[in-house]
Amino acid sequence: MENWFTELHTKDTGISIKVAKPIYTKFSKYQRIDIFQNKTLGRILTLDGLIQLTESDEFIYHEMLVHPSLVVHPTCEEVLVVGGGDGGTAREALKHNQCRIDLVEIDEAVIKACIKFFPTLSLSLSDERVKLFTEDGTKFTKKKKSKYDVIIVDSTDPIGFAKELFRAQFYKSCYSALKENGILVAQSESPILHRGIMKGMYKNLSAIFPTVQFYLVPIPTYPSGLWSFVFCSKKYQPLEFAREVNFTTKYYNLEIHKASFALPNFVKDIFNSD
Ligand code: SAM
Repeated sequence: MENWFTELHTKDTGISIKVAKPIYTKFSKYQRIDIFQNKTLGRILTLDGLIQLTESDEFIYHEMLVHPSLVVHPTCEEVLVVGGGDGGTAREALKHNQCRIDLVEIDEAVIKACIKFFPTLSLSLSDERVKLFTEDGTKFTKKKKSKYDVIIVDSTDPIGFAKELFRAQFYKSCYSALKENGILVAQSESPILHRGIMKGMYKNLSAIFPTVQFYLVPIPTYPSGLWSFVFCSKKYQPLEFAREVNFTTKYYNLEIHKASFALPNFVKDIFNSD
């Protein structure tokens, strides 16, 4: 019997991937964690049945979540990653040699599973510049004042305990936890399927940060294949100081940085409509 994984994105659309080999399943205190192998996409991590990453396209998500803000911030040293227990975001942030990273992931079981089964991402978590905290990112961030240059929110979708990471109160804590020229970047869902979430984020964030700009990336295995991130800043503009980087990337470069902030009209409409 063939075994297929299916994630529904709406009532009548979704993605199906053939499971070549189930690798790992665990019900942690917070969520169901599954890892399986597909011949085309490699290993895949799902949480509560939703794809978090595949080995074939994770580089697009992680490079684009991290490099635009770390390139724009001219003196970034202190970085906070909220979520991101797989280590992909920390891996990319470490390419900026001067950066130290605090990573706060609520679910220790995600970290442990990724250390075992996704070494190309999780090797970053044993780097001496990375400090791991296993607690709720909203509580952790509330305790920090003017500490970070950049905060990166690498969260699951706004469901259950991750919902708090999409609320105004959390964004206010991030604002206070950032230094006076700090930048916040967050994954912000699909402009095709989650327009209400993006609109809510825009409303909440633009009441707090002077600069709030969404940008787009293609992620073939995420709902609709088109994903968004939001760049929020106290001082810098997203194209300010944009430059070529002196390390290896598979997706990110200066042209991509500039192009990703150009929004199609149907995305601009999300923010302009009442
Ligand atoms: N790339 C992914 C995506 O957008 O689908 C995100 C991957 S990463 C594994 C997301 C992580 O955020 C999960 O491991 C989850 O446990 C963590 N997370 C969710 N809510 C959190 C919270 N309130 N505090 C800290 N970590 C949280």
